Amino acid sequence: MNFLDALYLEKTMSGTSTGTKWLAHKGRRKIIASSPVDGEAFAGIHKATPADYEHVMAQAEVAFPLWRALPAPKRGEIVRQIGLRLRDFKLPLGTLISYETGKPLQEGLGEVQEVIDICDYCVGQARMLYGMTTVSERPDHRLFEQYHPLGIVAIITAFNFPVAVWGWNAMIAAICGDVTVWKPSSKAPVSAIAVQKIIARVLEHNGLPEGIFSLLIGDRNTIGEKLLIDRRIPLVSFTGSVDSGRIVAQKVGVRLGKTILELGGNNAMIITEHADLRLAIPAVVFGAVGTAGQRCTTTRRLLVHGSCYDDVKKHLCRAYGSLKIGNPLLEANHMGPLIDKDAVKVFRKAVKAIINQGGTILFGGNILKNLEYSSVCYVEPTLAEVESHYPIVRKETFAPILYLIRYEGGIENAIALNNQVDQGLASAIFSTNHNQIETFLSARGSDCGIANVNIGTSGAEIGGAFGGEKDTGGGRESGSDSWKAYMRRQTVTVNYGSSLPLAQGIKFVIQEEGERS
Ligand code: NAD
Repeated sequence: MNFLDALYLEKTMSGTSTGTKWLAHKGRRKIIASSPVDGEAFAGIHKATPADYEHVMAQAEVAFPLWRALPAPKRGEIVRQIGLRLRDFKLPLGTLISYETGKPLQEGLGEVQEVIDICDYCVGQARMLYGMTTVSERPDHRLFEQYHPLGIVAIITAFNFPVAVWGWNAMIAAICGDVTVWKPSSKAPVSAIAVQKIIARVLEHNGLPEGIFSLLIGDRNTIGEKLLIDRRIPLVSFTGSVDSGRIVAQKVGVRLGKTILELGGNNAMIITEHADLRLAIPAVVFGAVGTAGQRCTTTRRLLVHGSCYDDVKKHLCRAYGSLKIGNPLLEANHMGPLIDKDAVKVFRKAVKAIINQGGTILFGGNILKNLEYSSVCYVEPTLAEVESHYPIVRKETFAPILYLIRYEGGIENAIALNNQVDQGLASAIFSTNHNQIETFLSARGSDCGIANVNIGTSGAEIGGAFGGEKDTGGGRESGSDSWKAYMRRQTVTVNYGSSLPLAQGIKFVIQEEGERS
């Protein structure tokens, strides 16, 4: 496979790096990376041991004060060079992401582009890490805020965006003066190694020390949990399921560490009686089947007004019938496989639950066999007619299953359905009616971190803050002022006068011995 060679990947590799150096890997236990596309085992990665962990952390501790001392625009320059290197490797890296996760090649390339975009964004942001100045209530005093680097940031990422989520976190953290330790998902470790090799060249070229961008591939219970309880790590940025996020929040919380939590979604799209279906139908299909339904922002619930419900159902059944499922590296195919056999089991269980709870499968529901590959991870994109109160509809099933739900009456009824689940990541409305759109965006509208109008739930630009409310965890990453979470905020009061007035007018007078007589 040419793309593996182009990325300098070997058959067996170390899973631990301090940025520029890979740790010796003899005697370590291995993860076998196999592709859901064709079932091939294509790489072996030696897992980090507890001793490797300590080595990486020691290097990160040494690197932090050095990296922090570099002016932020100089750190931005390193990030700029990383963006340039990623451009050089976009095709092989995008292909690897597609092969390792099963997402279509277009989406693999899009993921690399997302990291390139965040690098560009960070070059500018590195010159804008500003605090604010306000007025003091005391004479001859100045009151302002400033931001300082935080320290070592742990980045734990999910399998479905094996590179982009690291980029959102690591590039922002880097310009903020932090060093990062990355634990990627064991389901997509090779993409992480490829990125690490790409950035290593930039670090070496600039003569930077070890410990600025580290990588630890290992089990969640050994290496992953170490990051949670380690007091040397002031911030853990975690992307994953709600169940895992609860554990992370508790473990980091016990030591009063900070977290950024980016957890699961159960995203709805509302199609009102005023929707333009020419826009809505393709947005629904891309939102529901893109990345085989394995995006945190995947459209899972479609809330359709009764007046156009049958029309939408007919259009969707027709569109689903035209989808091509197969090798995601081939451009003709719309959808590739799920990540692994376990994901297929989850899909099968969900289909059974839909039927048991009273739903109807309108399209799909089956596991695809007899494809040209030995992979057993391909399933049919599935469309189910359900009612919103079914327990299965209330949870995130990480698979291409779209729930079709009818609503009647006004927009407030659709909003109530949108908001009735525990998760609060992405939401969307398709309508040409101003009143409906503004109500959806108002304080009594969608309760999600992302609210879109006449575009789908899936896919976000890097310029905005990304994240969600409720069980989605409340974290924000990427653009806007998300960088502030990666820094230590300090409020400063400077007295440049010749008296010492206290705040709130409090009087506190000390008379020294000599003054009393
Ligand atoms: P997961 O929770 O199984 O694992 C995510 C990562 O966390 C992996 O690296 C895993 O090894 C690690 N991990 C899990 N438990 C841990 C623990 N106790 N201590 C330390 N590390 C631990 O999730 P997944 O199956 O890889 O990804 C799918 C989930 O991620 C979905 O729920 C999806 O919605 C969510 N996700 C959310 C976002 C977002 O931005 N909100 C983005 C991508 C994925």
